[in-house]
Amino acid sequence: MTQMFRPALSTEDILRAAGILQKARPAYGALIDFYGQVFVAQAQSLSQIQLDPIILDPGLLALKQEHAMPLIDPSQFLIDKDQAESLFKQICTLAVAHAPKLSHSGERLSEALICGDLDLAPVFAALLSDQDLEPMAKKLDIPADELTFFAFSAMAPSIQFCSAQLSAYLKEGPEFKKGYCPVCGSHPDTAFLDQDGKRFLLCSLCSHEWLTLRMGCVSCDTADKQDQQYFFSAEEKEYRVYVCDNCHHYLKLVDLRQLDRAFVPKLEQITTLHLDYKAQEKGYTGPVSKIRA
Ligand SMILES: [Zn+2]
Ligand SMILES: [Zn+2]
Repeated sequence: MTQMFRPALSTEDILRAAGILQKARPAYGALIDFYGQVFVAQAQSLSQIQLDPIILDPGLLALKQEHAMPLIDPSQFLIDKDQAESLFKQICTLAVAHAPKLSHSGERLSEALICGDLDLAPVFAALLSDQDLEPMAKKLDIPADELTFFAFSAMAPSIQFCSAQLSAYLKEGPEFKKGYCPVCGSHPDTAFLDQDGKRFLLCSLCSHEWLTLRMGCVSCDTADKQDQQYFFSAEEKEYRVYVCDNCHHYLKLVDLRQLDRAFVPKLEQITTLHLDYKAQEKGYTGPVSKIRA
């Protein structure tokens, strides 16, 4: 399977991209300030992850490859608990200082960790097996989507680490024509065009990037040209929003040939919320994303 290997993002890359975006789109200033620091903390944590490799059974692997099935189920991702807990605490601190909307939850979660009312392992496990976090969030007196945000953000480097290790099992070959991640089966939440104009999808859970067909809807697999359109704005040439009139989903795409900064996918996602609103106004539904900004 053809994959894209971009070098790991450095702290400088992330901060420089955040600075450029902050100047270009001042309305997102406070959001970029908070998330930029979260992404830096995640990149630093990723460089320190220590996990054993996930070993796949050769027979099962051959079967999965034959049927274009994902390598693993998300519940099989391993989490470096020390790294995840330390990152969780850092993100709580950042939220208290820089994210007014999340500061209450950040404070509650920090307190709960200190007094032993919060064990993160079951929260991580529940998230990876798609269980409802509502009961845990209720006990902590915070909204479930905020607990999801903090926990997923803390686990993300471990998941990314496992995904990079697992991607060695993927076959070299033509594009993967499915609209789900070949590593973990999750939905893509962004697409991008590389320097040659090839279209890649990005997994919303494990950040794996895979080459896909240039055209066609990734939500319903339709390739009917009449159903596929995109819109863009002349002031923001680096983005396109693909919409499908068959399944009424949309997908944001970043054209790397037009980008004047390092590509930090999550940063581009949060600074294009206006494009989500526009697509939703037109009646389209967004991709299913695990981590919501
Ligand atoms: Zn994935
Ligand atoms: Zn579709």
